[in-house]
Amino acid sequence: MVTLCCVCGRIEQRGEWLDTSDLADNELVSHGYCPDCFNEAIQNIDRYEHASASELYQSDKIFVPLC
Ligand SMILES: [Zn+2]
Repeated sequence: MVTLCCVCGRIEQRGEWLDTSDLADNELVSHGYCPDCFNEAIQNIDRYEHASASELYQSDKIFVPLC
């Protein structure tokens, strides 16, 4: 089973994050975050928690992807 990043679509194999073109057709897939997208999601969650109502209204500035 491989982990597929739900944001950028890369897959984790043996500690490396690769393009999905390296994914075998019959491979079992679990969804999660790659380190880059995880860090970005954490920063966005932190921004979301400290944002004012008017900032939250501008949804293009705060994006928290859901898996
Ligand atoms: Zn990713």
